Amino acid sequence: MTQLKDSTSHNSNKAASIKSDVDTLSTNMNNMNISDSEDSLSKCAERGKEEEILSNKKEYISCAQNVEHTSGSKTAVEHLSSAEFIPDDILFRDPPPKEDCPLCMQPMPYASGSICGIRSSYQACCGKVLCCGCCIAASQEINKGNMKAWCPFCRMPFHETDKEYIKRFKKRMKLNDADAFLYLGMEYRDGGSGLPQDYKMAFDLWNMAAELGSSIAHHSIAFAYAGGKGVEEDNEKAIYHFELAAIGGHEAARNNLGMIEEGNGNMDRAMKHFIIAARCGFDESLSEIGKGYKAGHATKDEYASTLRAYQVSIDEMKSEQRTKFEEHHNHIMCTKVSELRK
Ligand SMILES: [Zn+2]
Ligand SMILES: [Zn+2]
Repeated sequence: MTQLKDSTSHNSNKAASIKSDVDTLSTNMNNMNISDSEDSLSKCAERGKEEEILSNKKEYISCAQNVEHTSGSKTAVEHLSSAEFIPDDILFRDPPPKEDCPLCMQPMPYASGSICGIRSSYQACCGKVLCCGCCIAASQEINKGNMKAWCPFCRMPFHETDKEYIKRFKKRMKLNDADAFLYLGMEYRDGGSGLPQDYKMAFDLWNMAAELGSSIAHHSIAFAYAGGKGVEEDNEKAIYHFELAAIGGHEAARNNLGMIEEGNGNMDRAMKHFIIAARCGFDESLSEIGKGYKAGHATKDEYASTLRAYQVSIDEMKSEQRTKFEEHHNHIMCTKVSELRK
């Protein structure tokens, strides 16, 4: 059983360990050939294609550190390399509140169902994660010529080359910005921004991000373990990292845990996960509870109260700009599908 303890004592060692890992990663990246190809402005506006919500980091960092039994002499990757038992009272507790978008001040929208979210965008200039509504509004203003091509938050001009973009990440990483590690990891996973595709580098960067408190990073690590990408396949560790992500407020990770429990025939536990995720506004989980109710796995009261909480979450996250983004995104998706059919 995991002992919950005050982790302050190893924080300085942890910081030193992270700094040394940053230096190693920076050296590795410097050794790689980063091309100078041009990048479009719209690409920058949608840059954070990967994600969503970092909910209540402080509480989550404390929980994750306690759960993980970290030791000052280990590297970030080693800290998280073993799956540990997480008690149900921690696993099924209410998730932390959603962070607000720093521009529109509305709760951030949740991530889409898979590894990739598309409803937020990381700005490597200032390290802010902006919601998709603010990003689409900014790119429309830029396209109309009403706004300069700069970050809608800090007003730093958009990067013009991949090299410049990666430089901004490195600067943020030196400030221990968890999101910088996280999103640079996404770039390595996808071979984006002139970087070579490198799953191992992505995995290492996500571990650093997870050490710094990113629940999204745990979700990505879980998928790396599940698919054996950049690390040896290990389902037990995949589940462990889904659990850490879910505790941090990652709805898609919570939904995945529900699907895993459902697959194992543990319907009570599956419904518990679905109820928590659906209450935060996660569509797929709500639909699972609907099915569970019909099959007798969830009560009428559970279904009704989840529906009410779901609606409250959806209303809080809704905005005209975000609806515009959804329509725009759906339009792109429909176009892509029809192109594939040709
Ligand atoms: Zn916003
Ligand atoms: Zn900025």
